[in-house]
Amino acid sequence: MALILRNGEVITASDRYKADVRIEGGKITQIGLSLPVGEGDESYDCAGRWIVPGGIDVHTHLDMPFMGTTSSDDFYTGTRAASAGGTTSIIDFVIPRRGQSLLEAYDDWRRRADGKAVFDYAFHMAVTWFDTAEVRSEFSRCIDSGMTSFKTFMAYKGALGIDDDELFKVMSAAKDHGAMVTVHAENGDAVNNLIARHLGQKKTDPIWHARSRPPEVEGEATWRAITLARFNGQPLYVVHLTCRDALERVREARARGQVVYAETCPQYLVFDESVYERPDFDGAKWVMSPPIRPKGHPDALWDGIAEGLIQTIATDHCPFFFKGQKEVGRDNFSKIPNGAPGIQDRMSVMYHYGVRSGKLTPHQWVDVCCTQPARIFGLFPQKGTVAVGTDADVVVFDPGHEFIFRAADSQHRCDYNLYEGMSGSGRCELVLSRGRVLWEKGEFKGNSGMGDYLARSIAKDQQAAV
Ligand SMILES: [Zn+2]
Repeated sequence: MALILRNGEVITASDRYKADVRIEGGKITQIGLSLPVGEGDESYDCAGRWIVPGGIDVHTHLDMPFMGTTSSDDFYTGTRAASAGGTTSIIDFVIPRRGQSLLEAYDDWRRRADGKAVFDYAFHMAVTWFDTAEVRSEFSRCIDSGMTSFKTFMAYKGALGIDDDELFKVMSAAKDHGAMVTVHAENGDAVNNLIARHLGQKKTDPIWHARSRPPEVEGEATWRAITLARFNGQPLYVVHLTCRDALERVREARARGQVVYAETCPQYLVFDESVYERPDFDGAKWVMSPPIRPKGHPDALWDGIAEGLIQTIATDHCPFFFKGQKEVGRDNFSKIPNGAPGIQDRMSVMYHYGVRSGKLTPHQWVDVCCTQPARIFGLFPQKGTVAVGTDADVVVFDPGHEFIFRAADSQHRCDYNLYEGMSGSGRCELVLSRGRVLWEKGEFKGNSGMGDYLARSIAKDQQAAV
């Protein structure tokens, strides 16, 4: 039995055309005009709708222990929310404790996700400490287990963060396997000193979170990571790039021929720092690292996407309830759990504020939300495009639908929405994961545990010569 999506307009990173799409056995098996609907086949009318690839969010933190608490979405609620917004694969992070075996932590994260996720999922391996005897020797087994990218933190010194010596060695070890290194680039020592200074001056409100992590600390750390990657002849992927300072460093590196990829997130494109000055501790909702930036930076990021300096849009989805979790930092911004919800909102924010406002073409929207994430992280062409032979992770998208973002309408397990009261557009009318219906016209039809773990291969892009 096949499902035929009829009379839609297929939009990929490169093409746009009217067609029917035939789905069978979890794959796209045929694309063409007026495909026959056989006995027992189902058809779905897509007139006036777009047929786009399911989104891939390569930066999420579901069920993650952090800052004395745990992110509020687990792998069921988080993937369910993501799929409501047209995302059908994620790459989350295995985060070992300092001193813990990477593979032991991997087993822990598989237990968190297996049997829960409603669509396919993969992991990056975070390297939170390094020694040659233990950690380096685990790299090849991580890669054999499908984690072909390693995440490093230059921030969060004393917790997840590593120093330059460790970062250099992680890069060198990853290079030996052709694996990707990704980096959270903020100067952790400078941040810790600025936090202590501000708290010492009784500056405790959420705005001081942003002033303890100014754009300069991101720009500096970005350049340092780029420099270390260059010494190692190693491609680099910069996660959640937020500011002009860091973007200019990426531009310089690419101009001299270095392979540097950059990711940003919707929240850095549509908000400015003034959110931290909202009354009644409301600014705590936007406390994340790096922080939301002053006016001017978001425009630079939009330009960066259009110029191809930024390849991917992810969410860094890491929700905490305002009540009971964010509130812990009411008298001390440094105790506010860092992170915010957004996994459901990525495709619609990028469509409304990108495509609808004329900043992105529909092809660029698909490219940064679906295709480039798959290419860079070894999921292409199984995921990330609409083509014969690919997984039928497909979204039937109504581009004309208008709505207002509201926490009450949101699937996140969280008591607020970052975009509350703002306009949005586009509706994911039918969402398929390997041909199976997750959402149809606002109704969830999936089940926990429908997703499979994706063992990723080393992407060609990861092996690019530096
Ligand atoms: Zn993150």
